[in-house]
Amino acid sequence: MVTAERLKARIDKQPRVRLANLPTPLEEMPRLAKLLNGPRLWIKRDDCTGLAFGGNKERKAEFSLADALRKKADVIITTGGIQSNHVRATTSAARKLGLDVILVIYGKKPEEYDGNLLLDYLLGAQIRYVKSGGPKFDVVSRSIVEELEKKGRVPYVILGGASYPVGAIAYANALLELLDQAKDRGFKIDYIVHAAGSGGTQAGLILANKAIKSKIRILGMCDEPEGNWLIKKTVEIAEETAKLLDLRVSIEPKDVTLIVDYAGEEYGALTSEALEAIKLVGQTEGILLDPVYTGKAMAGVIDMIRRRRFKKNDNVVFIHTGGTPALFAYKQELYSN
Ligand SMILES: *Cc1c(COP(=O)(O)O)cnc(C)c1O
Repeated sequence: MVTAERLKARIDKQPRVRLANLPTPLEEMPRLAKLLNGPRLWIKRDDCTGLAFGGNKERKAEFSLADALRKKADVIITTGGIQSNHVRATTSAARKLGLDVILVIYGKKPEEYDGNLLLDYLLGAQIRYVKSGGPKFDVVSRSIVEELEKKGRVPYVILGGASYPVGAIAYANALLELLDQAKDRGFKIDYIVHAAGSGGTQAGLILANKAIKSKIRILGMCDEPEGNWLIKKTVEIAEETAKLLDLRVSIEPKDVTLIVDYAGEEYGALTSEALEAIKLVGQTEGILLDPVYTGKAMAGVIDMIRRRRFKKNDNVVFIHTGGTPALFAYKQELYSN
């Protein structure tokens, strides 16, 4: 066990470039809580990290790109789907640092550019499309690295979602930031709920939570219906991150609470519950969630409140991990009159 101060000191020793607007605001959602007649609800506005539209990947970019700069990289290679928030966030952060970006996007080049993909284009990323189910990113990125090195460039590869130990440090740090804010506001957090996709966010949160022996329950709402692989990956990232931060904490599968019930049929497919959640939070609190991650995660919170899974005096903090540019790419599914 370490104290929060000691953990903070270790995180502060890691290479980091300041890019995000931090701390992000912690806001209460009294109108939503009243309507649902549930616990006290809070929202941590990580959608307000700045750069190009904000989100959790901006926090990770502070650490991943610092590592890239330390290794003298001049071009970043990373990957995601057509509407990846990670590639958009990483591209904008890399541009701000004067780095070039090559994106390996899984999917077919669409006729129309919308949402995140439009932003990738405007930010000047070089995009290479690979068909879904085609060669894996490690293979594709290796050949791009060889190609660039022949030209005398210094590439740095960031895995999908920046869900590797360097990126996960950002959410160990975010947990400490959130604890400070709750303390200032005079309340104790019972639950943190967030959307989970590639594991880095949850790995950082649970590692910091366990390291300082905090009793907060952290619920990851999975963005796809099959979650077993993600629990394993989250444990691995958390274990590696512990080593990086020199923490003697062991993370086990039972430390990872991953809820798959609100993911719908598949990753990226909008659910009617997520649509309801987006409208409800928008219309009660004026905050927009996204269709792929935070809408589904909030649908989970709403359902759990309706099923009385929280106590009336619990404080539940929802981390808004961003993703809002995807709203525009989903306009057909989102809009009905
Ligand atoms: C990537 C992403 C997540 C999931 O974070 P991971 O660290 O990949 O688990 C959640 N919400 C949004 C909006 C994201 O873009």
